[in-house]
Amino acid sequence: MKITFLGTGAGLPSKERNVTSIMLDVTQAINNLWLFDCGEGTQQQILHTAIKPRKLNKIFITHLHGDHIFGLPGLLSSRSFLGGKDPLTIYGPKGIKQFVETSLSISHSHLTYPIHFVELSNSELVFEDDSFIVHSILLDHNIKSFGYRITEKDKLGKLNVKKLKDKGIAPGPIYQQIKENEQTILNDGTIIYRKDYIGEPKKGKVIAIFGDTKYVPHHIPFIKNADVLVHEATFDAEKQDLARNYFHSTTEQAATFAKEANIQTLILTHFSSRYQKEDEEQLLQEAKQIFPNTLLAYDYFTFHIKSKN
Ligand SMILES: [Zn+2]
Ligand SMILES: [Zn+2]
Repeated sequence: MKITFLGTGAGLPSKERNVTSIMLDVTQAINNLWLFDCGEGTQQQILHTAIKPRKLNKIFITHLHGDHIFGLPGLLSSRSFLGGKDPLTIYGPKGIKQFVETSLSISHSHLTYPIHFVELSNSELVFEDDSFIVHSILLDHNIKSFGYRITEKDKLGKLNVKKLKDKGIAPGPIYQQIKENEQTILNDGTIIYRKDYIGEPKKGKVIAIFGDTKYVPHHIPFIKNADVLVHEATFDAEKQDLARNYFHSTTEQAATFAKEANIQTLILTHFSSRYQKEDEEQLLQEAKQIFPNTLLAYDYFTFHIKSKN
């Protein structure tokens, strides 16, 4: 699994940073791409990467501020123009359906594929399939803003081929059957219990991607022990008052949050356009003093997610 940052700026784009968008690549597990937020110009940003937009089948919107959604109508139209047929699901706060449908209908954009909308009003279970489970949490911003936690389900361990062979079971489709079922009855009536022939389960990864928010300690349990947290750091450590007044976080607050939740890696993003390239080291150090394993996202940065065990 990997995350690619398509835009890492807050509010308005700068020469170095486009507005917010993040691609989560789950192609290894289920051959899908999931987009988190879609600021203006996101489709242009995608063109500079190896990302294959036809695999995009879910879009999660954190909140309805323009810097997180103005790229949607263009991206959706292009997907259609390029012949996309597969259905797409958009998750987001109430209002996202009206925004998308209004922009598409006024511009006479007729899509070649259906969009399914799931509007969220509170912290809830957003989506679940055999491989993943996604939850939302209501954050503290000046409009409704959500954080998403993506939990990959644990995978079965490896089949102990040697032990099976020693038992006299020759390789073949029966191995798959043994792996998929708790117990398998062989032709001679022997019962094979999976637990006797399988290694430790492979722990799934946990990724949290937060929308704009003030620092709120009671969100800590939601991301406890996550492998990766993507968190906004609109302001530097000294601008606590500004952060509070505008419902955003500072570098220091995001790092404190990561530390308290005992996560593995913190990636900061959504930087105010007041910060230039030369300010970045300071922003990074402010966070690292509190949470050493912090990274600063930049446009096109890709992070490969490895779990702790
Ligand atoms: Zn924003
Ligand atoms: Zn916002």
